[in-house]
Amino acid sequence: MNEPLPGRSVPADTVIAIDGPAGSGKSTTARALAERFGLLYVDSGAMYRALTWAALDRGVSVQDADSLLELFESSDLELDPARRETRVVWDGRDISDQIRTPAIESNVSAVAAHPVIRSAMVDRQRAYARRRGVVMEGRDIGTVVLPDASHKFFITASAEVRARRRLAQQGEVPSEATLESVAADIARRDHIDSSRAVAPLRPAADAIQINTDSLNAEQVTDAVMTHIRGQVR
Ligand code: C5P
Repeated sequence: MNEPLPGRSVPADTVIAIDGPAGSGKSTTARALAERFGLLYVDSGAMYRALTWAALDRGVSVQDADSLLELFESSDLELDPARRETRVVWDGRDISDQIRTPAIESNVSAVAAHPVIRSAMVDRQRAYARRRGVVMEGRDIGTVVLPDASHKFFITASAEVRARRRLAQQGEVPSEATLESVAADIARRDHIDSSRAVAPLRPAADAIQINTDSLNAEQVTDAVMTHIRGQVR
């Protein structure tokens, strides 16, 4: 298992799209692939989270699309994928920890549902992929952002498994009540993300779907690598 690939085993302009709901394991897999293949890693969710943080910080309503867009366009957002979790810098301030809080998770899907915001984000995301090969993760990467990606994956897991993983990430031993409440939050976000009018969360027709309920992170990465190896000539 996990046998090392010889050096850069995919072309330098390879584009890999990884979509799926929260907690499905897509971030760990995307990061591992980028590292293994020497590609840029882009966490598109971090961009929506950053704008949500800025809106809450400045008192901009998450329902007010025009003000959100103005906020986004008048600010400087940098993503630095160097660390274990993407380092996110907004107008020079490191907000990497602030974008992972429950307050952001309760509001981010409302921000991400505005078509004008999506369009601005998609432009930035495509710009990353124009510079060099990438592994980009999100909800609409294979369907909207990079429909011509060389490889597309849609990673899923049941709501309960995803809630357990989320709590484990936070180092918590879950009680039944906590588990239920985290699962309910995840289900709420999934519902908004899947039912929005523009770029809803759904697999691209040509995406390979992987259910990770009974797989650990390494096994998911192995499964994805196996598909890529099979497709690279
Ligand atoms: O992936 P992550 O959980 O960080 O994404 C946070 C939120 O950002 C998602 O729940 C979704 O509302 C939004 N998002 C999106 N499209 C993407 C990535 C994230 O709408 N490509």
